[in-house]
Amino acid sequence: MSENTKVILDEKFIPTQWYNILPDMPEPLAPVINPNTGKPATADDLRPIFPMALIEQEMSQERFIPIPEPVREVYKLWRPTPLYRAKRLEKMLGTPARIYYKYEGVSPAGSHKPNTAVAQAYYNKEAGISRLSTETGAGQWGSALALAGSLFGLEVKVFMVKISYQQKPYRRSLIQAWGATVVPSPSTETNAGRAILAQDPDSTGSLGIAISEAVEEAALREDTNYALGSVLNHVLLHQTVIGEEALLAFKEMEDYPDVVIGCVGGGSNYAGLAYPFMRERLLNGKETEFIAVEPEACPTLTKGVYAYDYGDTGKMTPIMKMHTLGHTFVPPGIHAGGLRYHGMAPSLSALVKHGLIEARAYHQNAVFDAAVTFARAEGFIPAPETAHAVKAAIDEALKAKETGEEKAILFNFSGHGHFDMAAYDAYFAGKLEDYSYPEEKVQEALEHLPKVE
Ligand SMILES: *Cc1c(COP(=O)(O)O)cnc(C)c1O
Repeated sequence: MSENTKVILDEKFIPTQWYNILPDMPEPLAPVINPNTGKPATADDLRPIFPMALIEQEMSQERFIPIPEPVREVYKLWRPTPLYRAKRLEKMLGTPARIYYKYEGVSPAGSHKPNTAVAQAYYNKEAGISRLSTETGAGQWGSALALAGSLFGLEVKVFMVKISYQQKPYRRSLIQAWGATVVPSPSTETNAGRAILAQDPDSTGSLGIAISEAVEEAALREDTNYALGSVLNHVLLHQTVIGEEALLAFKEMEDYPDVVIGCVGGGSNYAGLAYPFMRERLLNGKETEFIAVEPEACPTLTKGVYAYDYGDTGKMTPIMKMHTLGHTFVPPGIHAGGLRYHGMAPSLSALVKHGLIEARAYHQNAVFDAAVTFARAEGFIPAPETAHAVKAAIDEALKAKETGEEKAILFNFSGHGHFDMAAYDAYFAGKLEDYSYPEEKVQEALEHLPKVE
């Protein structure tokens, strides 16, 4: 075999349907609760902020959902994404394992996020909406939605977590380059933002706060809907193009992964890659292992509780059963690796609880060590989020070296790190501290969880 193995499928291999895992879950998901009534949320509850097509997808029990042709047309800009075999990394590690990665960094925004941004913009446009509001942490989701808005002719307003707004000016510029408006959150434009600033004028913000602001704006304006970049069922659904393409590429190569790995913030890129392989395990008996990787600084799956909680700090979103660090969680400022959301997609949380997905947490210096090892072997610079998956893939490959196991490892390369070089700078300067989120803080957060019968 040559030094380079790269499988690029023809564009006719772009999937024609998304895979919905809900009907295949080991048990039905716990109902989502309306925070005002305390009762299961209905489609009508969600109508002020989402178009009906997405509400239906959110609750659908159909296993496959057709991808509208205009969305597939946009996907053709960068899909199918390549699947690489990391032969130089294998050689560097001296492992008998075969390491593969699905490279989502080829989208215009540099990550997997446009896979759902494009679909969400399309359905909102079809529903007669002219404006979308959203939040963004590091700026990846805000830039993906700005891109999608520009492709479908929608205005986009982005509430960007203040610390990132200050520390990541280039992603802010990307958002503006695609024609969207971006304001630092907490802002003075919403009740939610003003309430936080009244308590703490120096608040550096959090995803939970920015979500409250974006949801409030969508709920109050007739022309505006809300778009979320992760966590919800319909978002994970749209990301399954990643895994469906990967399944086809493995068929092409006559190989199959023994382990499927991904980093998790809200769970969307990992679910996107893993769920089609999970279907093969649940329905067709494939014995694949699954590993979800998160930071020690925001250890939602490994230290959080599996309980009902709000999706945002302002308690405006529906209450979901998921792994959570509490909706009051504010990530430590010293953490540079992204993946800072307090909650986790309900389906992914349930799969972890059922033991079908293993969860693992790493410290940030080890994560950046892995990122640099990878870049020096394979060339691509991973986003800090992606580097969590790289670290786990390297660990699995080294474990295989000890046992002599010739296994196939697949991980999702969720995005490139070209706009994250400030985090790399901090790493090279030795300024990154490893930080474990303290157990007491999880205990304290439990006191603020909503009581759901
Ligand atoms: C947003 C993002 C993530 C984390 O979000 P998920 O919903 O868990 O996928 C991971 N990697 C990259 C590159 C991202 O932009």
